[in-house]
Amino acid sequence: MALRREPHVLVVGGSDSSGGAGIARDIETVSAFGLRSCLAITAVTVQTHSAVEHVKLVPSELVAAQMRAAFAANAVAAVKIGMIGTSAAVEAVGAVLVNRQVPVVLDPVLASTSGRNLLADDAINMLRHDLMPICRLVTPNLVELAAFTGSSPAADEEGACRQAEELSRTVRTAVLVKGGHAQGTRCVDVLLQPNQRAVRFEAPRLPRGMRGTGCMMASAVAASLALGASLEASVRQGKQYVLDALAGSKDIGPIS
Ligand code: PLP
Repeated sequence: MALRREPHVLVVGGSDSSGGAGIARDIETVSAFGLRSCLAITAVTVQTHSAVEHVKLVPSELVAAQMRAAFAANAVAAVKIGMIGTSAAVEAVGAVLVNRQVPVVLDPVLASTSGRNLLADDAINMLRHDLMPICRLVTPNLVELAAFTGSSPAADEEGACRQAEELSRTVRTAVLVKGGHAQGTRCVDVLLQPNQRAVRFEAPRLPRGMRGTGCMMASAVAASLALGASLEASVRQGKQYVLDALAGSKDIGPIS
């Protein structure tokens, strides 16, 4: 079978009919980095910018089949995982990725901003035990980080770093804790890697909210890794990409 040699980012996640989050955001981010996407859709969601109205999950064997076909058809240089939905899908995704020499960036989506659960409760442990250890980077926000460490959301940067350090040590992978949901005039993300010093990424907090920034950040890091950048440089580029989008210097669609 002919394999397309140009590097692709394999995007594993849900569609969002509003275009505000999910794979629409992922594809536009990957193409902003000059790369092409291939897809494994995990769920079809019906959303407006303020509510998730329906979620239809794709059977886990179909998710795995899409991934295998994407690998068979393209030179996949990185994988970005967003909404997965169920423990069966977590298991299926992990089984396809294990032993593949490709960097995986996991945005461990638990819920929409509007409050709808996007990952079954029984999948949280499986995500941590089975999927995180095979990832290059996991990008939780403060609420997700708390769920994965069995704590309450950290009240300050020091607490967030402590939780991120604990998660990074237990899953033996890099964790980027995103401070976008915290208070304050500065938005600080911190990269924790096993046995390495923490790296802070600080930027002014822009006075506008936008959906899908988590999707964009993880996709931008995956695209940058696909282009051969180091993890730290990729996170720096991802943060800049999201800042530019928030500042309105890119055509990023509706702003809430
Ligand atoms: N819907 C889908 C399909 C997603 O993948 C995500 C986040 O990754 C969301 C909704 C949540 O986005 P938001 O927090 O902007 O509502």
